[in-house]
Amino acid sequence: MKAEIITVGDEILIGQIVDTNAAYIARRLNETGIVVNERTSVGDDAGQITECIGRAFGSSDIVIMTGGLGPTKDDITKKTLAEMFGSRLVNDARVEEHVRNMLALRGIPFNELNRGQSLVPECCTVLFNVHGTAPGMWFERDGRVLVSLPGVPFEMKHLMDDEVLPRLKKRFELRSVVHRTMITEGIAESMLAECIAAWESALPPYLKLAYLPAPNIVRLRLSAYEVEGDAVRGEIEMRFRELYDIIPDNIIGYETATLQETVHRLLTDRGLTLAVAESCTGGSIASKFTAMAGASAYFKLGAVTYSNEAKISVLGVSPDTLAHYGAVSEQTAREMAEGARRIAGTDYAVATTGIAGPSGGTAEKPVGTVWFAVASEEGTVAVMRNSGTDRGQIIERATAYAIELLRDRITGRR
Ligand code: ATP
Repeated sequence: MKAEIITVGDEILIGQIVDTNAAYIARRLNETGIVVNERTSVGDDAGQITECIGRAFGSSDIVIMTGGLGPTKDDITKKTLAEMFGSRLVNDARVEEHVRNMLALRGIPFNELNRGQSLVPECCTVLFNVHGTAPGMWFERDGRVLVSLPGVPFEMKHLMDDEVLPRLKKRFELRSVVHRTMITEGIAESMLAECIAAWESALPPYLKLAYLPAPNIVRLRLSAYEVEGDAVRGEIEMRFRELYDIIPDNIIGYETATLQETVHRLLTDRGLTLAVAESCTGGSIASKFTAMAGASAYFKLGAVTYSNEAKISVLGVSPDTLAHYGAVSEQTAREMAEGARRIAGTDYAVATTGIAGPSGGTAEKPVGTVWFAVASEEGTVAVMRNSGTDRGQIIERATAYAIELLRDRITGRR
C-alpha cells in the first residue's frame, strides 16, 4: 500500500517552521505497514493544492494531508477538496456545537469565521477533533483514501493515532514495513563499507541497506517493505549478528544507542568514577553524561576551564606548560586530565583543549586542532585530532571522540 503525505503552509516553504508533521505521519504509516513513496509541501494556494492532490491521488492508494484548515485558511483546503470531490459544503451540527463550546471555554466569541469551521464537504466522513476546532476529513474515491488533518501537531497526532490509523488498518489489508538500525562507531563510512562489502552483497534482494553517518558514528539501517513481519525481523537480527564477527569493536547497539550510554554502563557496572575537564567543548562532554539518569553514581566533577587562568587555578596546570607549549597542546591536555582526576579523586578524567574557530588558528595549529587526554591509574594518554572546520561541528566531533577515547581506556583497547 503506497501513501503520499502533503503538508500545506507558506510557513513550511519559507523555513519558518520545521515540517514535523510529515515526519510523524511517515513514521506512523511505516509502523502500520504502509510505504510512504512521496512527501510534498505546498503553499497556501488553492491552485498548488489542487494540482498536488490530483497528482498524489492518481499515484498513491492513500494521501494524508495536514494544514490549511483553520478559520483564516478555511477557504483553501476545504473548498479545494469539496470541489475536487464534486461535493458541496454543509454544516455539521456536532462540529459546530464543539467549536462553540471550545471557544466559550476560552472566552472567545463565535463569529462567521468559526461558522466556516463547522462546514464540511458533504461526501466526507468527519474525523472529530476533540482537541481543536478544525475537524479531520476522510474521503474515498475509486478505492483510494484521502485524509485531511489540521496542521497543529498535537491535534494532528491525536487524529492520526485515534482515527486515521485504526481506519486504515480496517480498510486495507496491510503487510509489514520493517526497519532496524545498528549503530557503529569509530570507523569511517567508506572504511565500513569496505569491511562489510561481502556481507552486504550476500543480503537478500528484499533487504535494503542504508548508511547514515553522523559525528563519529555510522548508522546501518536494514529495511524491508511490505513483507511478512516476524520472519523478516528474524532474518534482519540474524544478518546483523553476523556483523559482530566482522566489526566486533565498532558496534555499540541498535536504534538510538550512544557511546556515552556504553561508558555509563561500564562505569556503573564496575563502580568507577569520572571527572571531565573541558576547554573547547565547553561542557558538552559533561552534559552528555549528566543527561543520563544514574550519572550521579560515577560523575563527580565537570570543569569548563576556558581561560589559561582557570586552567591554572582550577586544574593546577603549570603556568610554564602554558607559556612553553600553549593551551592547545599535548602537555596542557595531559595536565588538565591529571589535575581533574586529582582534584575530584576519580578513577578516570578526560580533558579537551582545542581551537574551535572561526579565529585563533595558526599554520601550526589550524582551526579544528583538538588535544584529548584521559588520565587513570594506568597512566595518561593524549591524542591530537583535527575535528573539522566549523565551530559546531568541531565541538560535536571533539565531544564524540573524547567519549570514544574514554571508552577505549576503560576497556583497555588503548
Ligand atoms: P487550525 O485549524 O488549528 O488553525 P490548520 O489546519 O489551519 O490548524 P495551520 O494554520 O496550517 O493549520 O497550522 C497551524 C499551526 O500548526 C502552524 O502555525 C504551525 O505552528 C503548526 N504546523 C502547521 N503545519 C505543520 C507541519 N507540517 N509541521 C509542524 N507544525 C505545523
